[in-house]
Amino acid sequence: MSLQTTGIHHITAFAGNPQKNVDFYAGILGLRLVKKTINFDAPEVYHLYFGNEAGSPGTIITFFPAPGTPKGRIGGGQVGITSYVVPPGSLDFWQHRLQSFDIQVTKTSRFNEQYLQFEDNEGLRLELVERAEGANSTWFYDGISADKAIKGFGGAVLFSVNPQKTMDALESILGFTKIDEDAEYARYQSAGEIGNIVDVPLVKMGLGFGGAGTVHHIAWRAKDFEQHEEWRSEVQHYGYQPTPIIDRQYFNAIYFREAGGILFEIATDPPGFANDEPAESLGQKLMLPEWYEPQRAQIEANLHPIEVRTLTVKQK
Ligand code: ZN
Repeated sequence: MSLQTTGIHHITAFAGNPQKNVDFYAGILGLRLVKKTINFDAPEVYHLYFGNEAGSPGTIITFFPAPGTPKGRIGGGQVGITSYVVPPGSLDFWQHRLQSFDIQVTKTSRFNEQYLQFEDNEGLRLELVERAEGANSTWFYDGISADKAIKGFGGAVLFSVNPQKTMDALESILGFTKIDEDAEYARYQSAGEIGNIVDVPLVKMGLGFGGAGTVHHIAWRAKDFEQHEEWRSEVQHYGYQPTPIIDRQYFNAIYFREAGGILFEIATDPPGFANDEPAESLGQKLMLPEWYEPQRAQIEANLHPIEVRTLTVKQK
């Protein structure tokens, strides 16, 4: 083992109604819609990216929201819970904010940290945890101040059909270090400041299936294009068959399914979301890869218009 990821690059999930997706992640969680594009393999479906102001690796959740998407089932072979990190002292703010939108919250703890758990409008499991690590957000939305705003991912809880194999992949391929274990979970850490804590339940999970409210894959960070090629060899070295390197416009990607059933991607930090539009106006215009530009009028006509909008708090 020679390479070490700094942590999560992005997490990609399924959703139904695109406006409700924007309302939840931008309107309620206060993330920035940093890219509005399409599924490059299915141009009638949006691909939406939400993150911090710049859409930095470690902050990005992406969705393919398509109306009528059947519900999935969260289970083994998936990211079971996506964790966001917020500044110390801000969990009470978030509890009140979420409850004001009629979102049910549950308090729980792992490894002496308090978590506020809830679900998005599709049932995707999310949680917030306070940590001092990681830069405060510079994106201001709906009065959420920097000392409260989501900084990015804290990490993820990986639901595995074979936890030992998943833990092996984290340690041997990705270069995570095991830092703790209790009766229920093992905890792994990478070198980054955000998206760097991964918990694996020790019990084998029954296989879930994909659909609205489930995660499709989790991507880990590669520093640059050169290191990305080394990552591909590394993955092969451990007996996996990664895809060829695929140009995803904002990063390069390879994919492989680890033996615990979870689809892993390794994605490059560069070039980032200012690759095809100004950093100041990220996410406002529908961005298409070059080969789809001739069909722009038709593609736009087939998509329901969406907007980032301030939501009316339902009560209190
Ligand atoms: Zn991805």
